[in-house]
Amino acid sequence: MKIRTNFSLQAFNSFNLPVVTAEIFFPSTIKELAEISIEKASSSYILGDGTNTLFCQDKAPIIIKPNLMGIEVIENDDNFQVKVACAQNWHEFVLFCINSGIYGLENLALIPGSVGAAPVQNIGAYGIEVSDFIVGVTWFDFAQKKQVDFTNAECQFGYRDSIFKQALNGTGIITHVHFLLPKAWQAVDNYQGLNELVSPVTPQAIMAKVIQLRQAKLPEPKQLPNAGSFFKNPIVSKDVFNELNQQYSNMPFYLHDNGDVKLAAGWLIEQAGLKGFRRDGVGVHENQALVIINYESKQGENIVALSVHIQKKVKEKFNIQLVPEVRFIGEDGELSPTSAGGK
Ligand SMILES: Cc1cc2nc3c(=O)[nH]c(=O)nc-3n(C[C@H](O)[C@H](O)[C@H](O)COP(=O)(O)OP(=O)(O)OC[C@H]3O[C@@H](n4cnc5c(N)ncnc54)[C@H](O)[C@@H]3O)c2cc1C
Repeated sequence: MKIRTNFSLQAFNSFNLPVVTAEIFFPSTIKELAEISIEKASSSYILGDGTNTLFCQDKAPIIIKPNLMGIEVIENDDNFQVKVACAQNWHEFVLFCINSGIYGLENLALIPGSVGAAPVQNIGAYGIEVSDFIVGVTWFDFAQKKQVDFTNAECQFGYRDSIFKQALNGTGIITHVHFLLPKAWQAVDNYQGLNELVSPVTPQAIMAKVIQLRQAKLPEPKQLPNAGSFFKNPIVSKDVFNELNQQYSNMPFYLHDNGDVKLAAGWLIEQAGLKGFRRDGVGVHENQALVIINYESKQGENIVALSVHIQKKVKEKFNIQLVPEVRFIGEDGELSPTSAGGK
């Protein structure tokens, strides 16, 4: 197995921070994964493509960067069952599906990152979540040194959430994700922007539109280092929403079936006067207030400090606590966003 020491992770995190890890493992097989000692594995951070990771300090913990590759397709009369190894790039996998006549994931095109990370925060965009198409996840358990299968229900998927982010965090690795994509394809084209598509709507047309919309809206991390939406969209009760809506009648919102209401974190940040706000080499993007850009800082703590400032301003104005979507990683492992502090 490839192992490196004193290794710079600058090319492996989309905030482009020059953090260093004492040791990084690149296992390509289950056997290689099993070779990593339980002591090292359980104190390590699992790194995919680093597009949802904020290294908050100059040093990172031990890193395991799985390198398992491969896509297997089994077809029956009604469905495609697709087993994908964790290190496959997500967007390339979506392209592979569409080019192979396997439809359903087109709304999730161009989301950066690896397939293995997709179930962790249950990636979502343009009206769908990846959990809509996952039938199972294969997990390598560090303590047992063996693989275990989880059904969709056992993954406990929620909005940007799953068991892998909660109870199982730090105890193993997703090695494979299993998708079930029905041959009877149904377009999900009611999302703003996609509803302009001319009938008959095809998966290819949805994918092209999603790519076009994303490229127009979101800054490309290679030019402006960022991790996409920095905060989750807050979900509030109907009562809280009604109160806010009386004061801010133009506030965007999305009604949930259970009566709760999802608000747009980007709008709240913008209304708090922070769109385009910059300090210490980091800032809120000028067009998309939900995105924090690392313009020229070499220190993750500047991004942490900005995120704390944003939370404070939004809390003062709306009495709403924004919760980061991005994972905060310190030298000794994951930090809770409230304790990360920043300077
Ligand atoms: C420009 C931009 C746009 C984005 N748009 C969206 C969007 O529309 N919707 C959305 O949901 N997200 C979006 N994101 C966030 C990001 O793309 C996703 O969270 C993605 O799944 C992260 O993948 P990654 O491999 O880079 O994860 P990393 O940042 O490497 O890791 C993220 C988390 O997953 C864990 N992890 C990674 N691989 C594994 C594994 N094999 N097993 C167990 N745990 C693992 C890590 O430990 C960490 O906790 C965007 C990011 C950017 C930069």
